[in-house]
Amino acid sequence: MRTSAHDVIIAGGGPTGLMLAAELALAGVDVAIVERRPTQGRVGGRAGGLHARSLELLDQRGIVDRFLAAGRTWPKVSFHAPLDIGDFPTRHNYLLALPQERTERLLAAWVEELAVTVYRDREVVGAACDAHGVDVVTTQGVPLRAGWLVGCDGGRSTVRKLAGIGFPGWDASTGWLMAEVRMREKPVPGFRQDASGRHAMSLLDDGETVGVVIAGRDPRVRSEPTLQELAAALKDVYGTDFGVHTPAWLSRFNDATRQADAYRKDRILLAGDAAHIHPPLGGQGLNLGMHDAVNLGWKLALVAKGSAPEALLDTYQAERHPAAARVLRNTIAQGVLRRPDDRTAVLGDFVTEMLAMDEPRRRFGAMIAGLDVCYDLGPGHPLLGRRMPDLDIVTDAGPIRVYTLLHDARPVLLDFGGAGPLRTEGWDDRLGRVTAICDAACELPVIGAVALPPAVLIRPDGHVAWTGDRDGLADALATWCGRPALPA
Ligand SMILES: Cc1cc2nc3c(=O)[nH]c(=O)nc-3n(C[C@H](O)[C@H](O)[C@H](O)COP(=O)(O)OP(=O)(O)OC[C@H]3O[C@@H](n4cnc5c(N)ncnc54)[C@H](O)[C@@H]3O)c2cc1C
Repeated sequence: MRTSAHDVIIAGGGPTGLMLAAELALAGVDVAIVERRPTQGRVGGRAGGLHARSLELLDQRGIVDRFLAAGRTWPKVSFHAPLDIGDFPTRHNYLLALPQERTERLLAAWVEELAVTVYRDREVVGAACDAHGVDVVTTQGVPLRAGWLVGCDGGRSTVRKLAGIGFPGWDASTGWLMAEVRMREKPVPGFRQDASGRHAMSLLDDGETVGVVIAGRDPRVRSEPTLQELAAALKDVYGTDFGVHTPAWLSRFNDATRQADAYRKDRILLAGDAAHIHPPLGGQGLNLGMHDAVNLGWKLALVAKGSAPEALLDTYQAERHPAAARVLRNTIAQGVLRRPDDRTAVLGDFVTEMLAMDEPRRRFGAMIAGLDVCYDLGPGHPLLGRRMPDLDIVTDAGPIRVYTLLHDARPVLLDFGGAGPLRTEGWDDRLGRVTAICDAACELPVIGAVALPPAVLIRPDGHVAWTGDRDGLADALATWCGRPALPA
């Protein structure tokens, strides 16, 4: 039997796997997805929207309008209380309400445009690394071989287990039952708080289907939920089962919080829920996975093409593990604040009061929106390690936005004219060079206005890798753009 070979195989075509596949394809890597589901169809109710930084990432690739056209914007995010982000310095100062299924379908369509191979209805069940690559065993079809395997296969990741990567953390302390159903009786949309937690009911857009979330369930129960179980739970909380019938789906989730102790082992990497799980408070999980994908994609592309040493991949763990750990901690804190006892409610009132103040609102809002991430690239200008703002600039060719320069996922050296001669020989084949004038204020979330440096090196993920007038540029290029090409 012949083996199909690719540079990179991604196990799992959820939001993380799709985003990563697109990033690798843009960088010219032969990438394939192996996905268990036969279609991109819905898997129960999951993410309800995209946060500001995720929208910026999609803007950096020129596809954000597709998402904006499909959803509704809302100027608030949530950390225990609603936090207004309408005054944040970003073009996307809102949450985009968009069901996960639609996000996935839009990403899948983009991946198709980029001609990524997708093996559907197949599951990764085995992986064996050697010095040059990974043999990937799937449930059907020809065996696969790749230089690298990335597990984007969700919280119960098979790839993580095959690689023997630990997943330490907090066991679940409580669980939820979730469903979309029809009801013979009139539903009561809104929240209901009782001794077992905060329950929710909402009427969906079709005017007939009711979304239900029942809190306080035993997190140890793993069986598929049934309509009878939901009816009994509704009766416990609301005193009636509403004549519930015809479930579109039923599912359960819990507050288990875990993180992979390594994001890479040999030629196997992890991203998204495969690397971290946490309760869905603040709506951050899908977003976090997209951010992992955009951090990893260009690095893995450089290594897979032999242009950069494997050490570049160490920066993936160094940057993304702390970013996810912070999200895990904020979801634990939010979960504790929701505990249904009177004393916790008092604490919650104080936190709400604090978050109504401007500075906490800005800090916590930026954290949930993913706008405050700063990778530790050493001391220097406030932009260093942070996301580059989408400034309006003017080049010889006319006005343009900075994010437009990132559409093809290549690093960009942006010269604002105050720098000395910027030498980039050896990297010109993979680097965009732009000289521009910028009159706009350079304002960062939480930090405020900062002076624009003479020049910036922007990585393909939009984070600033170097600022200055000349010194240190060659080192930054060697670190982030791979080995210099030899002179012809
Ligand atoms: C109730 C609930 C509400 C949520 N709300 C939000 C929210 O509002 N905002 C937010 O950002 N996040 C939210 N999340 C979290 C979000 O759904 C996840 O973080 C997100 O789906 C993770 O994406 P992923 O691609 O990493 O993993 P998944 O979405 O789990 O995708 C994994 C993919 O891998 C496939 N797969 C699994 N095993 C294999 C295998 N062995 N071989 C091949 N394919 C395989 C699966 O079929 C799946 O398509 C919520 C989650 C839940 C449960």
